[in-house]
Amino acid sequence: MTNDGAAARPLEGKTALVTGGSRGIGAAIALELGRLGANVVLTYRSNEAAAEAVAAEVRALGSECLATGGDVRSEADLERIVEGARERFGGVDILVNNAGTTDDKLVMRMGTDSWNDILATNLTSAFIATRLVLRHMTRARWGRIINISSVAGVMGNAGQANYAASKAGMLGLTKSVAREVASRSITVNAVTPGFVETDLTSKLTEEQQATILTQIPMGRFGSAAEIAPLVGFLATDGASYITGQTFNIDGGLVMQ
Ligand code: NDP
Repeated sequence: MTNDGAAARPLEGKTALVTGGSRGIGAAIALELGRLGANVVLTYRSNEAAAEAVAAEVRALGSECLATGGDVRSEADLERIVEGARERFGGVDILVNNAGTTDDKLVMRMGTDSWNDILATNLTSAFIATRLVLRHMTRARWGRIINISSVAGVMGNAGQANYAASKAGMLGLTKSVAREVASRSITVNAVTPGFVETDLTSKLTEEQQATILTQIPMGRFGSAAEIAPLVGFLATDGASYITGQTFNIDGGLVMQ
């Protein structure tokens, strides 16, 4: 292989696990990691056809790809997914905790079930998946964990106490794990997208969307393809000295 090839596919030989890779931001991340040369394991909850279509696109980029079903709220499913990645590719080198969802209500009307469900889907899943992949990363003395949080976790959002708490929790998880594993050359970072055009934000009413747009300096929602390149970079050796950080990608919504 020429040097140009190595530069174009810096993740050749690495295996990435992307939860929730069947649609939206996760699908764009799976494609980006495949483009950079990684073997990709992408997961879905129920959209098998969509997941297989993304997997076919990754393969068309010249990388191997496995689509695996499973509910990230289930520890047994996460164990099966990580074990499947180990059997096929030897272990997970890059974990992207992306699967997530919303169940918006004002806190006075929010049932405890809704709270627990969003915490389990968005936060506990990331904790369990992290624990499952760390043994391999620790042995390999190389690893990348990238948590897809949200600006809601940074600034809060009325109607999203459960979601914002889960996403803020991811930031605490990110920083704590980053400190635990830094000496092994494993980096742990968080990406906090603002409003991105996916099925998740298509639930917003036109009125809600118009209000949000007034707060975004760039005056538009982002696309999933505008989130994926930073995740790809964080997975490469170019990002080897970056850990415990939170990166907003939000058209300027949050400026720190
Ligand atoms: P989508 O709703 O478009 O896709 C969600 C993905 O997660 C799908 O692949 C879905 O699988 C999977 N998923 C959902 N619940 C589960 C579950 N219980 N078990 C396994 N897989 C599950 O979401 P987005 O692409 O918009 O969001 C991706 C991530 O980015 C989320 O964590 C979200 O919170 C975060 N984010 C999104 C923003 C946005 O504006 N869109 C802004 C900030 C953060 P399936 O297709 O099978 O249902």
